[in-house]
Amino acid sequence: MSAGTIKKAQKLVDEGNVVQVDDDLFQVRSSSDPQKSYMVTHDSCDCLGFKNFYKFHHGKGIKANCSHLEAVRLYLKTKS
Ligand SMILES: [Zn+2]
Repeated sequence: MSAGTIKKAQKLVDEGNVVQVDDDLFQVRSSSDPQKSYMVTHDSCDCLGFKNFYKFHHGKGIKANCSHLEAVRLYLKTKS
């Protein structure tokens, strides 16, 4: 995962864009468009980048990731 993804994720957490809605469901606001938000669980996100990941990297054994998913991980780490 790129350092840029982590930086973006940290920013999302710092700015309070991660909101827990259920045990394993989070709403993460987009950093580029505040009107937009994504529903994220601990291993999936409904943003385009996440969906496209499997299209482009299919079968390579890499787990998809995006800044929203990473933001949720950071959020949970800071919380615990
Ligand atoms: Zn995402």
